[in-house]
Amino acid sequence: MEQHAWHALAADDVTRIWKTPIEGLGAEEVASRLQRYGLNRMVGRQGVGWLTRFVRQFQNPLIYALFASSAVSGFLSHWVDTGVILAVVFLNAVIGVIQEGRAENSLEAIRRMIDPQATVWRDNHRLGVAAWQLVPGDRVLLAAGDRVPADLRLVETHQLRIDEAILTGESLVASKNPALVSAEAPLGDRTGMAYSGTLVVAGTAVGIVVATANDTELGRINRLIGEVVELQTPLTRQLNQFATRITGFILLASVLIFLFAVGVRHYSWADAFMMVVGLAVAAIPEGLPAVVTITLAVGVQRMAARQAIVRVLPAVETLGSVSTICSDKTGTLTRNEMMVQAVAVHASTYTVEGTGYGPVGALLPEGASVSEDDRLVQALARAAVLCNDADVALRDGEWVAHGDPTEAALIAFARKAGLEPDTVRAQHPRIQEIPFDGERQFMLTRHACVGDTPDVMVKGAPERVFQMVARVAVPDGFVDFEPAEWLQRTHQLAARGLRVLALASGHERDGVASFARDDAPVDGPQGLTLLGLVGLIDPPREAARLAIAECQRAGIKVKMITGDHAVTAAAIARQLGMADTPVVLVGAELDHLTSDEMVLKARTTDVFARTTPEHKLRLVEALQSDGSVVAMTGDGVNDAPALKRADVGVAMGINGTEVAKEASQMVLADDNFASIVDAVREGRTVYDNITKVIAWTLPTNGGEAVAILAALFLGFHLPVTPVQILWINLITSVALGLTLVLDPAASNVMSRPPRAIGAPLLDRRLMGQVLLLCVLFSIGAFSVFFGVLTLTGNLDHARTLVVHTIVCMEIGYLLSVRLAPSDRLNWQAVWATPVIRLGIGIVMLAQIAFIYVPPFQHMFTTTPLGLWDWLAAVGIGGLVFGLVELEKRLRARVTSGSTRV
Ligand code: ATP
Repeated sequence: MEQHAWHALAADDVTRIWKTPIEGLGAEEVASRLQRYGLNRMVGRQGVGWLTRFVRQFQNPLIYALFASSAVSGFLSHWVDTGVILAVVFLNAVIGVIQEGRAENSLEAIRRMIDPQATVWRDNHRLGVAAWQLVPGDRVLLAAGDRVPADLRLVETHQLRIDEAILTGESLVASKNPALVSAEAPLGDRTGMAYSGTLVVAGTAVGIVVATANDTELGRINRLIGEVVELQTPLTRQLNQFATRITGFILLASVLIFLFAVGVRHYSWADAFMMVVGLAVAAIPEGLPAVVTITLAVGVQRMAARQAIVRVLPAVETLGSVSTICSDKTGTLTRNEMMVQAVAVHASTYTVEGTGYGPVGALLPEGASVSEDDRLVQALARAAVLCNDADVALRDGEWVAHGDPTEAALIAFARKAGLEPDTVRAQHPRIQEIPFDGERQFMLTRHACVGDTPDVMVKGAPERVFQMVARVAVPDGFVDFEPAEWLQRTHQLAARGLRVLALASGHERDGVASFARDDAPVDGPQGLTLLGLVGLIDPPREAARLAIAECQRAGIKVKMITGDHAVTAAAIARQLGMADTPVVLVGAELDHLTSDEMVLKARTTDVFARTTPEHKLRLVEALQSDGSVVAMTGDGVNDAPALKRADVGVAMGINGTEVAKEASQMVLADDNFASIVDAVREGRTVYDNITKVIAWTLPTNGGEAVAILAALFLGFHLPVTPVQILWINLITSVALGLTLVLDPAASNVMSRPPRAIGAPLLDRRLMGQVLLLCVLFSIGAFSVFFGVLTLTGNLDHARTLVVHTIVCMEIGYLLSVRLAPSDRLNWQAVWATPVIRLGIGIVMLAQIAFIYVPPFQHMFTTTPLGLWDWLAAVGIGGLVFGLVELEKRLRARVTSGSTRV
């Protein structure tokens, strides 16, 4: 791409150089420029190479210990042991690399699903496209909340302010305008440019793309956005610490035991060494942190399949504990498919018929009406078109909206009233605007007008517009504005669940427009003429209603936080089944509350109406100080602080701004409340599965360690050799443990209260179970060992059967650990999922190889087992299943009995 000092060229020259027509580039031109300049996506991000990742697998105290033991075994000429240990270490590293890589890739792919969006003019249409599809010369539209998608030369700005901290490090927000600046101006002073990656804080603009991808300033200074995928979470860190600590402890214990074996029991150095290696290998839960990471990654994938895209891994953990969800109304709990259903002017109210954004639908007067009022409807419709940024166009036989659905609905309404929006807009070109934002609650435009037509148009929340109004339009002039009457009419529409907007107009020559000097604070003008009210329906989402009912069963509170009118919000809350008579509070009332009062109100209120983003922040803080784990939704720039503060910030994928997405931990691809609840269910499942994996892994390790220690202190032969233990731990345990990771949600996952944050992973019940299993595993191993030794006197045979029995006990316990005490014990429940059956099948094949295939027999000193051996091993496995189930159910009965008392 040719380099120009674009900021030093006039906007018109830039447009000429890039041959950008006023209606934007055409599809063919875009395709050819994409070919020529490539995708607008940064390349060259340095991922971690597989070799580095492979080497990293060895940086672990356990692996050091294993290396040391393989060296010592080699020194003692135990070549087979050396080989097996090294092979297993190598295999473990390979599995680690593959799994880590897959987890990272899937997270990366999921992140791509939230590629930034851009709005662009092409072929005379305003389109939403993925930012990577932009080409040099594209006419891009910017609005508050956008992340600038490429380097742009600004050609038109309206109070545009951009946060360029990512580029310049400057924390002050820069005001922008299209004027050219000197070629030497440093980056921070180039006011005519908007640079890729910076954030639009306020205003709107049009710019021409002058650089994309790595040619942008951001690409050039190589401060790449999109941080490296982080696989660590508080939970995995905690587990890593636990693993490191336990490894240290076991190594220390091993040294002492080694000394004991040599000094007291008079073992040879070599035997004693191999014994402690066995012990260390048996006791250290080396696979655990990796399995937990994978469980989290699987959770992320499942959530993505349900439209909830997790941006940071720890959110998966937090989601499982969410106890309050604060949700926006419009678009999240409702469908955001707006349609004007009622219009109120002077003495008449009309019902507007029709569906969707189509232009067909009659305006029928409700009750008595004045026929001349029809003219007032025309004036209202004209204001609705002019004070409006949306478009509705016919595409493939369907009317499709671009822009804010509220505004698109007004365009559809204007067509029904007989106006052609394009013609109206062409007749009254816009010369100035104050865009709508949730805090200001109105939008204002100024137009070049002929004759006596008003040139200032305002639309917004009725209470807000009423503050600017002095009179009301009637067919032959004006009457004085009666606030009480109009508030009552607003109330009537809102009680029907309609979203109400007021429209007003005025003349600049009457002093009305002394408002909008660029950058001047805007309260809005005075002395306007009220044209009337419109009421829009926005039906609740059926899925949201079901999800709210599910939350109520799951002990999760749902609160609606909306900018809309209290009465409208309450009506929708009722339709959604949030409460029969929802407790509603208006934002302004929150302003006067002390922190303590706020906590109380936050707890008891269902609907917060007419709120501003600051209210959201205070609410999150109040709920958190009340002990809640809060998920909060948001879409606008100003929602960012609340999203950051919430335990899980949830941004809207379709209607959310880039700023909101960046501040949040999760993005909803479909903007749907139900997806949050799906994510919570997955979050709880992840926790369940992690608990299962831990509860399953610990007794295997513990049981083996107990067996070895007992053998040592009682002066017996080891019931299993170190390499056999390696086999059990690193081959069978990993294959079986991983199947738990994919376990589906338990039947009761959404009918119990949320898990308290910081609650131990293993509660007392599970700790008891783990201890019981340690005992069962060592009893099982010893009885088989001594049984075979007594019967045959063959040590290798006895050890082979011990290994096989341990594996069968693991399988028995695996089938049991998945079941809740309340689950019925039928074949379907016990015989688990296809994944688990596959895992068991693989492990059994591996066992057959271990027992019958000569190279394995040689490596692991195993001997073939007969029918009775198999029956014994499988029988003991079954016994373990039965005993654990019995204990679980008895305990559940005792506990429920004691709670009943
Ligand atoms: P939430 O998404 O938080 O549930 P909301 O979208 O209903 O709330 P806002 O968008 O902040 O709330 O709107 C608040 C009020 O401002 C609305 O009730 C309506 O009267 C008015 N309003 C909404 N959109 C526009 C717009 N584009 N132009 C002018 N006024 C608007």
